[in-house]
Amino acid sequence: MSDVDLSEFYRHSQPKKPPCKVGIVIGALKPAEQKQLTAALETDNNIITSAAIIKWCESRNPLPLISNNVVSHRKGTCTCAK
Ligand SMILES: [Zn+2]
Repeated sequence: MSDVDLSEFYRHSQPKKPPCKVGIVIGALKPAEQKQLTAALETDNNIITSAAIIKWCESRNPLPLISNNVVSHRKGTCTCAK
């Protein structure tokens, strides 16, 4: 989210925190791709690695992800978790 200022939306959305980078990427995908990525994230990370998910996202969304983003989203310790 380089040049788009969403801070006003975040402020109005309190107290819910903004989604993590993975959540932002998911939100920007088409519904079919959202399903695909969500299923991949739920798959054991020995089968679908974080690196594979980052690569998949890179080809669809310009927001750069790092392994930690994917790991914490998978664990549910990111800001998407309720
Ligand atoms: Zn998340």
